[in-house]
Amino acid sequence: MPTRLPRRFPIRAKLTIGALAPLFLACFLCSLTGLYLIKAKIANQAQEKVRTDLNSAREVYQNELDRIAELVDLTSGSPFAATAFATGDRRVIAQLLTPLQQKKLDILTAVDARGRVLYRAHNPVSVGDRPECYFVQRALSGSAVTGSCVLTANQLAAESPDLARRAAISVVSTPHARPRAGTEEHSGMVMVSAAPVRNASGEVIGALYGATLLNNNNHLVDRIKQIVYEGVKFHGTDVGTATIFLGDTRIATNVMASNGQRAIGTRLSEEVYNRVLLEKKKWIARAFVVNDWYFTAYEPILGLKGEAVGSLYVGMLEKPYTQMQKNVNSILYLVLLVTSLLGIAFSSIIGALLSRPIRELESLAHRVALGERDLQMEEPSADEVGDLARAFNQMTRALTRQEAEINLLHRGLELKVQERTAELSEKNRQLLETQADLARAEKLADLGIMAAGVAHEINTPLAIIRGNTEVLEMCLPPEHGNREEVEIITRQTERMAKIVGNLLAFARQKSLDRRQVEVHAVLDDILAQIGHQVSLERVRIARDYDPDLGAIKGDADQLRQVLSNLILNATQAMPEGGTLTLSTRSLGPGAGCSIDVADTGSGIAPEHLEKIFTPFFTTKDSGTGLGLSVSYGIIKDHGGDIQVTSSQLGTRFRIILPPEKPQSVILE
Ligand code: ADP
Repeated sequence: MPTRLPRRFPIRAKLTIGALAPLFLACFLCSLTGLYLIKAKIANQAQEKVRTDLNSAREVYQNELDRIAELVDLTSGSPFAATAFATGDRRVIAQLLTPLQQKKLDILTAVDARGRVLYRAHNPVSVGDRPECYFVQRALSGSAVTGSCVLTANQLAAESPDLARRAAISVVSTPHARPRAGTEEHSGMVMVSAAPVRNASGEVIGALYGATLLNNNNHLVDRIKQIVYEGVKFHGTDVGTATIFLGDTRIATNVMASNGQRAIGTRLSEEVYNRVLLEKKKWIARAFVVNDWYFTAYEPILGLKGEAVGSLYVGMLEKPYTQMQKNVNSILYLVLLVTSLLGIAFSSIIGALLSRPIRELESLAHRVALGERDLQMEEPSADEVGDLARAFNQMTRALTRQEAEINLLHRGLELKVQERTAELSEKNRQLLETQADLARAEKLADLGIMAAGVAHEINTPLAIIRGNTEVLEMCLPPEHGNREEVEIITRQTERMAKIVGNLLAFARQKSLDRRQVEVHAVLDDILAQIGHQVSLERVRIARDYDPDLGAIKGDADQLRQVLSNLILNATQAMPEGGTLTLSTRSLGPGAGCSIDVADTGSGIAPEHLEKIFTPFFTTKDSGTGLGLSVSYGIIKDHGGDIQVTSSQLGTRFRIILPPEKPQSVILE
């Protein structure tokens, strides 16, 4: 089954991930931390601002109370007030209160010392009743009093028929509002101030009280919004809002409901109600108001007796801050994105720079695997990759060196094999030659035995014939008619004796008589003698003797016979004349010598070359065909060799003699 390679994960990608992962993580954690800190800081700051805004709102509320108190105090404390109250005349009192009526007080009433109404500025026909109000009692007891209080619908109606209608509020049910029975609010919250009116002796002769209805009266909350938040808007919605609650119900507010109307009639949540109205503590926290989230602050509005009659609220829309957070988030994520892209770009470049030498190494290693050598990585960097490159360079150098050594060894081995093969071939050739020599020697030995027998048998009758012929020749007078025939017999018997001599030489049984032989002297001697056998008139003799060639070891008579045969054959091959060249060469110390006998005769026919050393092969009429075969045997006995080269221009016989006689293969 083929092994599956692990999925390729390039080092460049690893480097990029390795470099970017911590960066991403760090950026991500920094972003989260930054966002958390910004969120917490912004939320805290916004919430803190709302807390201080509530103080400002309370100031505005208190200023309004102070304004009403000042108006009431100024009027009740004037000498004209004492006079008017003393008379009890309603027209005089009305005249006293006329300037106050222009100051937008919803209630302006004068009572006598027993608490009976002398005059109501907004309901002049209703007089003589005794309003059951705490602030009236306090004023008649001599103390001026200012604050917030709740009046019933009847009390409001008594003060002004229109006031009860203006105070009525339809209660709206919202998901977060505390549950409540009833759908109408008829009571009214008022900012009231009451002050005693004294006569000249300081006795309380009556009281004056003025009040402003807060139900459906948004002037105060709008003023708070204007002063504290300066009407800042976010997407058309007021960021800052203020509300006055009567109990749990909004009676004046600039918080808008989803229908675009002021959210009057909506209510507090149970949680805020319990905290602010029941525990009379501030509520400062994020809260869902009507239909949106706000940073809010509530505090109780205490009545004249210290009871919680309602609450004052200021709040800031959370949306601008969440939007700001979103913007900050977007900027942070954009920064993260940009830095990430830059990080990817940088790490890609760095990755490419780092992986380039590795890829180069891979390519070089591939080329080395395909057989290339002497590959070197240029300029290895000064780091771990550089160490790797240097190690690679060392490896390829070592590989090249070892391969060169192996090649050298291989070539040496090949040469040795060739040498050994050549030696083996030479040995084979020598073996074949030796076998051929052996075969020839055996043949010649058989032939020699037979020839020796024949020669021996012929020699005796031949000697008798020769002896008798000589006697016959001596007996015949010179002019005898048969003398010519006798001379022919003599010549033929001499020829026969020569043949028999050659046969005996061919079949010789004697061993070599080795002595020092002066080759040059032997050659010169032969040349001097040969003239008796053949005419040398037309033959030019050239001597090319090697002066370094001294005496050699051999059988002088037998070598003389060989050289005589060769020289005789050469001269016979040149009947028309020519050049007979005799050359000798020393083949070096301990290497033997060579003797050449060359002629410029007609040469030996190629088909005859193989046969010339065969006994009795001759192309001459008077030849015996034994000269070369005898010579061959003698030279072989000396451990030498005899070679022939021939062409139409002539023939050269070369005798090679070894320095000393090797083991002979010829039977002796
Ligand atoms: P013979 O001389 O009696 O013929 P050899 O054995 O000496 O016998 O020679 C054999 C043959 O070799 C010769 O007949 C001749 O044909 C040939 N031969 C030898 N020497 C020469 C030579 N120098 N030139 C041409 N032929 C030669």
